[in-house]
Amino acid sequence: MNFEQLSLDARVLAGVKAAGYTSPTPIQEQAIPLVMQGRDVLGLAQTGTGKTAAFMLPILHHLTTQKGPRGVRALIVAPTRELAEQIHQAATDYGKQTRLRSVTIYGGVNPRPQVEALRRGAEIVVACPGRLLDHIGAGAIDLSKVEILVLDEADRMCDMGFLPDIRRILKHLPTRRQTLFFSATMPQDIRSLADSILTDPVTVQIGIIAPAETVSHALYPVPDKRKKDLLLAMLDNTPTGRVLVFTRTKRRARNLALDLENQGYRVSALQGNMAQNRRQKAIDGFRDGKYDILVATDIASRGIDVTEISHVINFDMPDTVDAYTHRIGRTGRAELSGEAFTFASQDDEPMVRDIERLLGTRIERRQLEGFDYGPSMVNNRSQTSQPNRQQPRYPSNGGSSQSSPANTSRPRRSQPRRRYDTQG
Ligand code: AMP
Repeated sequence: MNFEQLSLDARVLAGVKAAGYTSPTPIQEQAIPLVMQGRDVLGLAQTGTGKTAAFMLPILHHLTTQKGPRGVRALIVAPTRELAEQIHQAATDYGKQTRLRSVTIYGGVNPRPQVEALRRGAEIVVACPGRLLDHIGAGAIDLSKVEILVLDEADRMCDMGFLPDIRRILKHLPTRRQTLFFSATMPQDIRSLADSILTDPVTVQIGIIAPAETVSHALYPVPDKRKKDLLLAMLDNTPTGRVLVFTRTKRRARNLALDLENQGYRVSALQGNMAQNRRQKAIDGFRDGKYDILVATDIASRGIDVTEISHVINFDMPDTVDAYTHRIGRTGRAELSGEAFTFASQDDEPMVRDIERLLGTRIERRQLEGFDYGPSMVNNRSQTSQPNRQQPRYPSNGGSSQSSPANTSRPRRSQPRRRYDTQG
């Protein structure tokens, strides 16, 4: 199936094209026609399945093709400001050719710009529950014209204690409306919330294609001072597509990117000391294929939305389990499979155990065949310093296989260049 067959308005279709999508993901294929028919939808799907576009595209279609009163016509409620920003970004990107305006509302920032944006007018509001209630209380937002309500990541909102807030928000919405309800899991309290707010819903269930399912995890025990050589040997021996490498500090990101560049890899750093325009250039270059490798810190990586990342390599162990899931969530997106390799020194053992508890399984320990791990490593299988070729796990022919990450091959080495995109 392609997007043309979904009968979306041409202006919305232009947004899809601009995003570079060629065919809808399973949840989009199922949900978009239902939403366009005006049905309530219960979507059982996680992040990474393309669910944002599954609700945003038909919302944009509805708002552009059906005339309505001035005011807020679509309300999307989400648990975190990061998710709210992502959804807002999707509305802005897909809706570029429409004249629709989207506003975000969340706490922890000055409310005044939000109030002013609402006063200027917006058809779409993407909000976290707490601040939305504040604005309702202050009379800064009128939700009486809302035609479509989306509750995104409902189970997470429930975990975060937002259920009472959501029930209060619902009282300010018209009862005659279309409701779309997304949740990755369906515990009893979520089920009863869904039952109470959805009218004759159609359930759309997507076999979990979340990062945890499409990403295979492996741990490479290695002493800190051998990490760089291990990474180089790995890049030399493993067919990869786009590779995202995480380091603990900005300095390590910058230095590692320089080292890789000196080895002839097409690489950029992405870290907080770089000016915003340089960061954007690094992300764009990575997305467009100018760089095969991006070496990033956690904070700087938040804005990365590149679907075709085949490998995430944790050069340094993340500080929290949350950071681990966030990092590995950068690969295995939109149904592509990916691999997450984590370099772990002995000090990292407690964090490894926490991550394994989260995944509910032991992470496979691997050693790169023939790599010299140095004298401190026990069970070192080989002491030769020249890396042997590992069996490729992906086709190295540019990745024509459907089930493998797109465009996997060995990262191309270019002549070392003098100009670095890694400073700042
Ligand atoms: P989501 O589950 O909405 O967070 O989307 C996960 C990722 O998939 C995002 O990076 C989207 O840009 C991307 N995506 C969504 N729909 C498609 C599509 N039809 N084709 C390719 N990528 C998509």
